[in-house]
Amino acid sequence: MRIGIIGGGASGLFCGITAKKNNPKNKVYIIEKAEKCGRKILATGNGRCNLTNENMGEEYFFSSDISYVREALSAFSNLDTQKSFNDLGLLFTTGEKGKIYPRSLQASAVLDVLRMESKRLGVEEICGFKVVKIEKKGDIFRVFGEKETLEFEKLVIATGGMSGENLGSDGDGYNFLKAFGHKMNPVFQSLVQIKCDNTYTKALNGTKITVAAKIEVNGKTIDKGIDEMHFTEYGLSGPLGFNLSRSVSKHFAEKNESDIYCVIDFMQELSYDEVKAFVQNRIKTQGYKNLEDFFTGVFSKRCGQMIIKKSTDKKFNVFAKELSGAEIKEIANNIKAFKVKLISVMPFKNSQVTAGGIKIEDFEKDTLESKKLRGLYACGEVLDVDGICGGYNLQWAWSSGYIAGKAL
Ligand SMILES: Cc1cc2nc3c(=O)[nH]c(=O)nc-3n(C[C@H](O)[C@H](O)[C@H](O)COP(=O)(O)OP(=O)(O)OC[C@H]3O[C@@H](n4cnc5c(N)ncnc54)[C@H](O)[C@@H]3O)c2cc1C
Repeated sequence: MRIGIIGGGASGLFCGITAKKNNPKNKVYIIEKAEKCGRKILATGNGRCNLTNENMGEEYFFSSDISYVREALSAFSNLDTQKSFNDLGLLFTTGEKGKIYPRSLQASAVLDVLRMESKRLGVEEICGFKVVKIEKKGDIFRVFGEKETLEFEKLVIATGGMSGENLGSDGDGYNFLKAFGHKMNPVFQSLVQIKCDNTYTKALNGTKITVAAKIEVNGKTIDKGIDEMHFTEYGLSGPLGFNLSRSVSKHFAEKNESDIYCVIDFMQELSYDEVKAFVQNRIKTQGYKNLEDFFTGVFSKRCGQMIIKKSTDKKFNVFAKELSGAEIKEIANNIKAFKVKLISVMPFKNSQVTAGGIKIEDFEKDTLESKKLRGLYACGEVLDVDGICGGYNLQWAWSSGYIAGKAL
């Protein structure tokens, strides 16, 4: 069987290896538009590749068919990922929140073992070939490049989503699949930096603080989390900013005109009343200090000053004991619920993953073969599945790549 896999990213490479292992008689070709396969893998996890997670389950994913994600994870789990990569010679180390990385902390190690295995098995890479059109004539798929045409008996679309365009994926796969009648859910960028009104937060540029935060629209919480928030010149980033970005991005993609806010809790260990009592007591014991230094020893210097600045018009050289009752209340409010208006999210090219995509309902669940066109398969981010930060998106690439590859 002559099999073409369009896209030499995580899911395509894993699918190719599985297809060849499963049936060594298969002639497997990976068609990649870049000069080399797996460029995005090299950029993952800040060059360290967080390839899966100890904690796995459908609750870490989003899809219009979440039950399918559960089935896929049981067909090929995070333990299967570790075993498969172990078999290829890769050792692991586990970071915070169960994130699993190669022991060398080098993403290149993940790509290298995949390509070594692919070569050993005889999977062929056809690089520098941008697919522009696909046709099916009789039993044969014709794959058109800019100069050449290739023919296959079975075809896999593993072209990714629209995120990280400079690393290859720009949404071509959606058009290939839509042309054969597959339905698609709207796409929007996820795991992306959030832009906000930075009147106060720009003072924190470059600071990383572990906080609890929620996203609010019309006073209703639509998302929340506790993790490290990175404050940047334009807004919010880091693990917490990224995970909250999905609902913020969806809000803007749906052109929802209501204002959207991030409400940050800088003292999650205490209730509002406890924070208010803490500030009142601190004024008794430290009220001789000026406002500039009042929170030194509680928050980072810039964070403490930002809370003061948002809560009172008084100058920094005023003594803390001169704060009024209303100002103390406002300080407690801003410690527990520092409200930042959100403006937008950064574009697709800055994002790590694309939410939405081709609906899984048009594919057989156990094989990922299209119900619309026999012999056609899809895997990876092109499908309507995305995960939170932490190795979940690569796990989906391995699981779905395995399922399609096993069926070939
Ligand atoms: C900066 C960054 C960091 C990330 N870090 C992590 C992480 O640490 N952990 C994690 O789990 N996830 C991470 N992700 C997400 C994860 O990398 C992706 O979800 C995953 O790689 C998707 O795999 P894929 O095979 O579906 O698509 P991709 O990896 O995007 O591969 C698709 C391939 O198809 C090729 N292609 C596209 N169109 C064509 C065409 N017309 N013709 C030929 N070839 C084509 C592309 O060039 C590309 O090589 C990160 C993403 C980015 C951008």
